[in-house]
Amino acid sequence: MLKKVAENIYQKTVPLPNNPLRDINAYIITGERNLLIDTGFNRPECEEALRSAFEELGIAETDLFITHLHSDHCGLIGKFARESSTIFTGETDGELINFETGNLYWRMLDDLFIKYGFPKADFGRNTDIHPGRKYCQDTRVNFTYVKEGDVLHYGGYHLQAVETPGHTPGHMCLYDAEKKVLFCGDHILGTITPNICIELCTENPLQEYLESLKKVEKLDVSLLLSAHGTPVENMYARIQELYRHHNDRLAEVLSILGGSRKTAYEVARDMTWEIDCRNWEEFPAPQKWFATGEAVSHLQYLYFSGQIVREEQNGIYSYKKPEAV
Ligand SMILES: [Zn+2]
Repeated sequence: MLKKVAENIYQKTVPLPNNPLRDINAYIITGERNLLIDTGFNRPECEEALRSAFEELGIAETDLFITHLHSDHCGLIGKFARESSTIFTGETDGELINFETGNLYWRMLDDLFIKYGFPKADFGRNTDIHPGRKYCQDTRVNFTYVKEGDVLHYGGYHLQAVETPGHTPGHMCLYDAEKKVLFCGDHILGTITPNICIELCTENPLQEYLESLKKVEKLDVSLLLSAHGTPVENMYARIQELYRHHNDRLAEVLSILGGSRKTAYEVARDMTWEIDCRNWEEFPAPQKWFATGEAVSHLQYLYFSGQIVREEQNGIYSYKKPEAV
């Protein structure tokens, strides 16, 4: 479905088959030059959906803006960028997207998770079955990097880059102050809570995320265009819910630690998750992965704010309350 959401801005819902996110909202700004914001996975179902939107709008060429490194946002760059296209993103996530085209990124990510207690896969690398790897942009991209305050001009909009690290280390939003429009990628979502996951290049993603929420809260926004789920009517109310959610999660993690010492994987196993599984063993492997990443970000936040202690044994981190033995 192609929906006009504002003057010269169209939203295309691109399906993400067999993925709990279900779909992604790609945005197309039309004008003298066009701008595609985020793409979908590198798989035929996504490409066909996006292609049909381009046909409906009668567009042959476009520039691209990628909010962040996740493959559901950048997987189709190679399929939609022409030689004449400018492909914008932030430097950190841009470098990581190009790093993801090789093996080393996925080896390092697997090693990082093993350090936080995720079990070593018996079939090779855990990341071999990571959906982000299966459907990623598969060739290096010649990005044009944008940084805080840079302005892009498309379709009568003056879109200012706003750095919003947290969901990923280099997540970037686009904001038109006069028209009060914010393209926020996965920074704020309506139906689900954005996954705040450990990643290369960051040690305390939740801290960064909460600071980025505060930053966006100061903007004057009447139209929030998120990358997944239903529209967010009131961004400010949603931000308050997200603060509460993470406070509740931090309290839950502290209570799970209790008087014992646990790895992030063990904490994730004991946290409550909205998923249709009877127990942790039934979780699909990718969901265990994201749950562990989320547990890490909360544990690291507690660790860096001095509320818990982190210890390393045989190369694996575990956490405990200071008073626990
Ligand atoms: Zn994402």
